[in-house]
Amino acid sequence: MNILIKNGAVVPLTADRPGVLNPGYVWIEGDRIGQVGAGAPPPELEQAAEQVIDASQKAVIPGMVNAHSHLFQTFIRGMADDKTLLPWLKAAIWPVGAVMGEEEAYLSGLLGLVENIRSGATAVIDNQYLHTDRRSDDAFCRAAQEVGVRFRIARGWADTNYHPVFMETPDQILEAMTHLYETWHNQANGRIQVEFGPLIPWGCSAETLQRTVALARQWGVGTHLHTAETREEVQMSLDATGLRHVHWLEQLGVLGPDVQLVHCVWLDDSEIERIAATGTVVVHCPVSNMYLASGVAPVLKMLAQGVPVALASDGPGSNNSQDMLETLKFTACLHKVHNLDATALLPEQVLEMACLGGARAFGQADLGRLQPGYKADVVIVDLDSPLMQPVWSAVSALVYNANGGDVDTVIVDGQVLMQDKHITCLDEKALLQECRQAAGRLLERAGIQI
Ligand SMILES: [Zn+2]
Repeated sequence: MNILIKNGAVVPLTADRPGVLNPGYVWIEGDRIGQVGAGAPPPELEQAAEQVIDASQKAVIPGMVNAHSHLFQTFIRGMADDKTLLPWLKAAIWPVGAVMGEEEAYLSGLLGLVENIRSGATAVIDNQYLHTDRRSDDAFCRAAQEVGVRFRIARGWADTNYHPVFMETPDQILEAMTHLYETWHNQANGRIQVEFGPLIPWGCSAETLQRTVALARQWGVGTHLHTAETREEVQMSLDATGLRHVHWLEQLGVLGPDVQLVHCVWLDDSEIERIAATGTVVVHCPVSNMYLASGVAPVLKMLAQGVPVALASDGPGSNNSQDMLETLKFTACLHKVHNLDATALLPEQVLEMACLGGARAFGQADLGRLQPGYKADVVIVDLDSPLMQPVWSAVSALVYNANGGDVDTVIVDGQVLMQDKHITCLDEKALLQECRQAAGRLLERAGIQI
């Protein structure tokens, strides 16, 4: 299908065309961007278009990548506020996760993915580590297939030291991952991908980590893991191995452009240097790091050394939303105040982290820009709001004013998943009702009273 988006403030994020084309147009041919230009679209595009979207008083941006979430936590959000990481895991994540079944996984996946679309994310990396029901991995992939979002499941695993309910043997991990790879990798026109998700350095044995990374590289898929999220965890690593997280991972041969390290709050300068030298991708989750009082990641230092930094909400259990537009503002403001520098992280840089940094995390060179040949993942944000007008700079308004409720239209792979703030891929009201009931039954089974 051909789609013409016209009259919008187009933010292409291309190297040769910085800034905003206002007004501008975007021409979509099938699953790819065909043309991007300033002014009114050529008459032949108007004539050839099967669908025309008028984006007057709206911004048109590349789809953002939410580079780290745990979708099942949509059913848990708000349950254990005001705690640090380990007490939070014990109060909410472990007891509920331990009894969650396939159907609940599927519904929480639909809910979490619709939330992502509504807040401007066209691609999501889900670090899925619920395996009490072995069918849960498939349930999340099925949800992603139905919603139509670009989706990567980073299948979480732990084989040592972790909560017994979430631990697996190395053979179980490799068998489940092989099934996932054979069933889902590159399905849905390449929208669904899989990668390994070793959960945390202290829950993964060195041997299994090396085995899974070797297999990932043989398959050409990535590896995604929480790293140096809290000071306590870094101390645990020093006690157990004598090494900080990044040095331990490098010793095992784990670093590289195919690896995403999530959080990276407690790094020293030598670790940042090794991340930069190996082209490893960092995923920054500012809201979660504030919510769990984990700390402030040294993002400016990483960017200065050329580290690709993507943005993410983290799971909705520690946020409690998955609003990527909100994440843009938090990212900019957190690093300004932390560095006492109002020029730290300009709006354009933050948007680039969400789009181009996200493309690096996704390991896909045709994402993150509105440029001919790139994937047609496009988000249109309504700027015609008393919360934003008058708008002098569309990028400033996107970062400092807009939030998820302002996202108007979302296109993934050339398919319209939301238009005029209406989700087209499923009955949203019915889904919310079903999720409320399923989450209620789940808490009852977990023996948790709120
Ligand atoms: Zn996480």
